Amino acid sequence: MSTPLASASNTKTKLPNPKKVTIVGGGVIGVTTAFFMQQAGFEVRLLEATDKIAAATSKANGGQLSVSHAEPWATPDLPGQLPKLLTSKHSPLKITLTRDPHQYRWLLSFLRECLPARHLKNTLKLTRLGLESRTALKQIHEVLAHHKVDLTYARRDQGILHFYTNLDALASAQKPSKIKRAAGLAHRWVTSEEAKVLEPALSSVDGLLRASFTPSDSSGDARLFSLKLSRFILQQGAKIRLGAKVNRLKTDASNNRIASLLLDSGEVINLSDGETLVLCSGVHTPALTRPLGIYPQIYPAKGYSATYDVLDPSRVPEISLIDDEYKLVYSRFTEAGLGGDFGSGRDVLRVAGMAEIGGYDLTLDPLRANLITERVSALFGDAVNLETPNYWCGLRPSTPSNLPYVCGTKVSNLWLNAGHGTLGWTQAAGSAKRVSDLITASLF
Ligand SMILES: Cc1cc2nc3c(=O)[nH]c(=O)nc-3n(C[C@H](O)[C@H](O)[C@H](O)COP(=O)(O)OP(=O)(O)OC[C@H]3O[C@@H](n4cnc5c(N)ncnc54)[C@H](O)[C@@H]3O)c2cc1C
Repeated sequence: MSTPLASASNTKTKLPNPKKVTIVGGGVIGVTTAFFMQQAGFEVRLLEATDKIAAATSKANGGQLSVSHAEPWATPDLPGQLPKLLTSKHSPLKITLTRDPHQYRWLLSFLRECLPARHLKNTLKLTRLGLESRTALKQIHEVLAHHKVDLTYARRDQGILHFYTNLDALASAQKPSKIKRAAGLAHRWVTSEEAKVLEPALSSVDGLLRASFTPSDSSGDARLFSLKLSRFILQQGAKIRLGAKVNRLKTDASNNRIASLLLDSGEVINLSDGETLVLCSGVHTPALTRPLGIYPQIYPAKGYSATYDVLDPSRVPEISLIDDEYKLVYSRFTEAGLGGDFGSGRDVLRVAGMAEIGGYDLTLDPLRANLITERVSALFGDAVNLETPNYWCGLRPSTPSNLPYVCGTKVSNLWLNAGHGTLGWTQAAGSAKRVSDLITASLF
């Protein structure tokens, strides 16, 4: 399988008229891909297994558009921290070994990505994709504004404040910050006093040492964004089929082209001559490609989120936060309140984190989820409703390097836009634009 992010260009194919693309997966990656393919003049069909858009990993994530924090999980310091991380009760990381050989392969590759040279390369590539995403997201806003279509998704453009309550973590944070500065990202260290001025809700945080502030970052609700964008592409003529789970990709006699898709229901969907297929199927992408001899290293890293109703708005952060010691992110969503799927109109605090590498099981462990509430209680006390948190867990489609697969494959009309791990919301627009540009370039 080609390297993540590689721009493997497919052989030129005969074009149908109009150009057609089928996209598998209706998460934030699939929907943004559908948008840019439609903008590039393609007739779009999107197939989603569940009965809703953004019902899987894109449903209740941390909400951060954290371009300036595009650091991979695999860092040179991580192997040394693993013994503590794997034994501490409060650790955000949990590894449960399974019988799946793909898990072992993934873990070994992950350790290799901790090498300093690879970490540097991965950070720079993630940063570049993040910056592209910022531009591409602006484009999405411009197009929808031009069509006078609402694209509000509880977005806040107040930056991200990354705070430290642990000396060792603060020391190791200095290195990536140099790398990120080299990549041209605006980033400023602030004292604990300055941090409390920027975000008064931090006044109650014990042992606050320092923080780094990235004013150009944002936050927003990825699910709401995906829903509204999917509504727009539908209005513009895309076909969206929910409850359409693709079971198998079938090639033609040459084995070099996907000719049809077999759904779980038994229905067969034929692709036209020259039609492109893009897999945006998150953690389930390898299951679709492995029978074709294509092995993307995408493995689930289960994460948790908790959403709390805000009771005292003045004591709940306005700025999106990263709590370095507990590896949690905090985003305040004041939902637009259109009702139903389009937002309840409530003022909530979303807190997300944790990583469990142990397979595809989506059972929510109440003890792990409660660790989030313990920390929120320590930081913000009764400013949020701690009695009825809305817990959720999702599977990050993680690659060892954190770099997604935005590339073609050895099958001429099969493309991937998957494996965005911890940063899929941040990088959705950029990778969608990139895959759309690559596909368009390959066809002309
Ligand atoms: C706890 C947590 C916090 C996070 N916080 C952040 C954050 O703050 N900022 C950030 O940038 N990112 C964050 N992320 C990461 C981000 O949520 C993911 O990277 C992103 O949602 C992945 O989007 P996706 O579209 O690839 O996957 P999904 O949202 O999972 O979408 C894939 C879709 O494909 C469908 N599908 C799969 N297989 C098939 C099939 N065979 N046929 C048809 N459909 C199929 C699925 O049903 C699903 O709807 C977080 C993730 C978690 C778990």
